[in-house]
Amino acid sequence: MEPVPCFHCATVFTPRNKKQYCCSRPECQKARKANWQRIKMKTDPDYKVSQKLSQQKWTTNHPGYWKSYREQYQEKTDRNRMLQTVRNRRRSTRNKPADVLIAKMDVTKVSIYTISDT
Ligand SMILES: [Zn+2]
Repeated sequence: MEPVPCFHCATVFTPRNKKQYCCSRPECQKARKANWQRIKMKTDPDYKVSQKLSQQKWTTNHPGYWKSYREQYQEKTDRNRMLQTVRNRRRSTRNKPADVLIAKMDVTKVSIYTISDT
């Protein structure tokens, strides 16, 4: 096989087969696996359900993990809370009717007519 650049770090390496697009460095393999899982979660509903059940099982078997994590990494906790607030706000405004989201243009016209009439 001809040497090719790694998809993740751009280091030139010799792939073992045509499908290999990342070099064997641990961080590149980790990125490749994360990319694979991201795509799998989007395209395979069974895998997504399986992952969710697995995560719930792990959380049940490790009670208090997230509480101690939040206490240990306060700045990450604060960042996540701030970002979650943004996500919640975005989610809550997504399903509202358009007239709630868009400023009413006719309100200004009504007040102008009211002023000009008097
Ligand atoms: Zn690489």
